[in-house]
Amino acid sequence: MQEVSRQIHKYHSELPAGVKLLAVSKFHPVEALREAYDAGQRRFGESRADELVAKAAVMPKDVEWHFIGHLQTNKVRRIIPVVSVIESVDSERLLRMIDEEAVRAGRTDIRVLLQVHVAAEETKTGFLPEEIPAVAKTPLKAVSIAGVMGMATNTDSEARINADFAAIAAAGKALREVIPSATELSMGMSGDYPLAIAHGATSVRIGTDIFGSRI
Ligand SMILES: *Cc1c(COP(=O)(O)O)cnc(C)c1O
Repeated sequence: MQEVSRQIHKYHSELPAGVKLLAVSKFHPVEALREAYDAGQRRFGESRADELVAKAAVMPKDVEWHFIGHLQTNKVRRIIPVVSVIESVDSERLLRMIDEEAVRAGRTDIRVLLQVHVAAEETKTGFLPEEIPAVAKTPLKAVSIAGVMGMATNTDSEARINADFAAIAAAGKALREVIPSATELSMGMSGDYPLAIAHGATSVRIGTDIFGSRI
């Protein structure tokens, strides 16, 4: 068996019940996604609008596409026809724009996650945890807020990573006080996902450990 399918099988058998796998396929060729698909994987994560749309055009229609990168407002319209979940909503303006474009396209099934910024890196985007309850009250016509997404600091310090995942989980809890159905907690990547699962992750986003390094 090839590496990608072996890794997909490994995650499918080892992730605890209630934790889904998002295969982060950004920068990898469609052949690699096909191999993951043939191994049973249906949820894929991409971080660039053009790349997601191009891959969606050639992959089977039952793939569930998640957008996980910084989304520019002028790219929203492009991904709306094919995306299932936009995990990286990092401003209220973007949230409103996604909702408007979903209305325009007649799509009422798109879910969004609010990205929470807790990591030390300035380059990472997202809402501060204390902003989440107010953002959750944004009136929306078409899309629904399904939970939160976050990234821990890129560090060797397990204490810091644990603190970051705890803070993301707490933001998710605050969100559920406004929207009880918003139970998705997307956190954990190749290097830190076991800690994320320990903090209640419902979906882990794994790229490198499935597809190898991105150059
Ligand atoms: C690239 C990326 C991942 C996957 O990271 P790996 O370390 O390759 O597993 C997960 N989440 C987000 C938001 C990403 O941009």
